[in-house]
Amino acid sequence: MKGFTTRIVHSDRQEAIEHGSLHKPIHATVAYGYDDARELAAVFQGRRPGFTYGRQVNPTVEALQDKISRMENGTQTVCFATGMAAIGTMLFALLRQGDHFISSSFLFGNTNSLFNSFAVQGIDVSFVDATSVDAVADAITPETRLVFVETIANPRTQVSALEEIGALCRERGLVYVVDNTMTSPFLFQPLSVDASLVVNSLTKYIGGHGNALGGAITEMGLFDWRKFDNIYDTYKTGGSEKWAISQIKKKGLRDFGASLAPEAAHHIAVGAETLALRMERQCASAQVLVEYLARHSQIKAVYYPGMPDHPEHARAKKLFRYPGALFSFELAADVDIWAFMNALDVIVKSSNLGDNRTLAIPVAHTIYFEMGAERRASMGIDESLIRISVGIEEPADLLADFDAAFAAVGGD
Ligand SMILES: *Cc1c(COP(=O)(O)O)cnc(C)c1O
Repeated sequence: MKGFTTRIVHSDRQEAIEHGSLHKPIHATVAYGYDDARELAAVFQGRRPGFTYGRQVNPTVEALQDKISRMENGTQTVCFATGMAAIGTMLFALLRQGDHFISSSFLFGNTNSLFNSFAVQGIDVSFVDATSVDAVADAITPETRLVFVETIANPRTQVSALEEIGALCRERGLVYVVDNTMTSPFLFQPLSVDASLVVNSLTKYIGGHGNALGGAITEMGLFDWRKFDNIYDTYKTGGSEKWAISQIKKKGLRDFGASLAPEAAHHIAVGAETLALRMERQCASAQVLVEYLARHSQIKAVYYPGMPDHPEHARAKKLFRYPGALFSFELAADVDIWAFMNALDVIVKSSNLGDNRTLAIPVAHTIYFEMGAERRASMGIDESLIRISVGIEEPADLLADFDAAFAAVGGD
């Protein structure tokens, strides 16, 4: 098989493109016209391939879906307007009232909020420490349908017991959903740990430029959907490996309508071409910065799976090509977080991650503010915790930026 980047860069050309265009064009259309009304009917009834309505299908979006399937070595992908839309629509399409699912408690904040919303609608969730497979096993009930984990959690960088949970799900017949956003398919292939479905927020590393939102669900072709009660008969057409992704697309996407716009799909597809190049640099820079910070007298703690003292260092080393491009750290007690952050110049004070620009955010005061001090403490979120999403700038400039900021607050 050809290399990761070769496959992405030449992905669109696998189908003929008009005028020999090397990028799939932006098809800015809502509807698709047919000369023969019988053909229109055949497409609607699924007897013939074709396009029906822009909420569910668009050629530009389909080209991106193929690209993501190639990256993940999956069988089929459906894209959404955002990563949250992907996760929400998938669960909405697959679970029903009375079902239960298990989630890692080390979770992207908005996903945590979404799962709590599902719980009040009658789909129960248990949050467990997914760095341990035993915690997941202990939470299984007769109603459990699915397990949801992230690869590396943000902001404290816990790494889930990905392999062990995969084996458990296979043994117990549970759907295994892996959110691969933090690692991206370049650092980690959830197929290797028997994932059933893979989530990617395209907004982050895959798009990479911080200029478009998007999300995706990819079917890995491993789960036997004939053993899953919640598939409607309508979607049991073709091989059973297609049933769930059809239901997510034809029912979930159609009912909820959180569709990816073709313009955004184009931005993301162009960004994806350089995923591997960007991540090589971003991960290498993260390692350099973390080693510098870990030695610094004004730092209390650094969290990065690439550090030998990280609790899941060995796991990250075994599973991931690199240990990611995001880390967080706590400042020493006498360092003023605002003075320190305001002294940063190259590094942008901003939310988001996976951008080409290095971004810094004071976690407790922003993305984790709403949950309150008590809950933050229980999750190990220190008031001085700063999250860094490392960009593609020259690492020397980033080091100099930290150096200047420490000097400004009176350190060495
Ligand atoms: C950002 C993120 C999401 C949500 O993606 P959006 O595109 O912002 O909706 C989901 N999971 C993880 C791990 C993320 O980092």
